[in-house]
Amino acid sequence: MSYRIGLGWDSHRLVPGRPLVLAGLNIPSELGELGHSDGDVLFHALTDAILGSIAAGDIGMHFPPSDPKWKDAASALFVKKALDILESSGFSIVNIDATIILEKPKLRDFIDSIRAAIASVVKIPITEVSVKAKTKEGMDAAGRLEAIEAQVAVLVKAGPFASQNA
Ligand code: MG
Repeated sequence: MSYRIGLGWDSHRLVPGRPLVLAGLNIPSELGELGHSDGDVLFHALTDAILGSIAAGDIGMHFPPSDPKWKDAASALFVKKALDILESSGFSIVNIDATIILEKPKLRDFIDSIRAAIASVVKIPITEVSVKAKTKEGMDAAGRLEAIEAQVAVLVKAGPFASQNA
């Protein structure tokens, strides 16, 4: 059995007048992510983690922000396309571990919904999706409520699609 890991990280500015979107869910917040797409920092980090696991480039390469096609795009699309690339390379996702770095609002009440949203898009059981929330305790841009960050690790294994490409 062949296993590989991928690591993704993303950060967006937080501004008034934009929704806070995490894994496609609108989280009640005074500030939201500034971005060319919906700014979904968690799905962007997940996309990079999936692509990184098979050394298939990064989100900017596959979905350049200079392309008007991606303006205000729902970022689930990026995850789904990365998953297509992963599966056509003969790999599938084993589990996902994510950390969101956000000063406020507190995400505790939304964690299970975020886990379910990720599980649904990548088609794995929710038990294989971990989402954690951390604060920067007032330090750096995230600590000053100027930014949100997300980190995602993904483990992938060869198959069950490997036979199609053997
Ligand atoms: Mg991004």
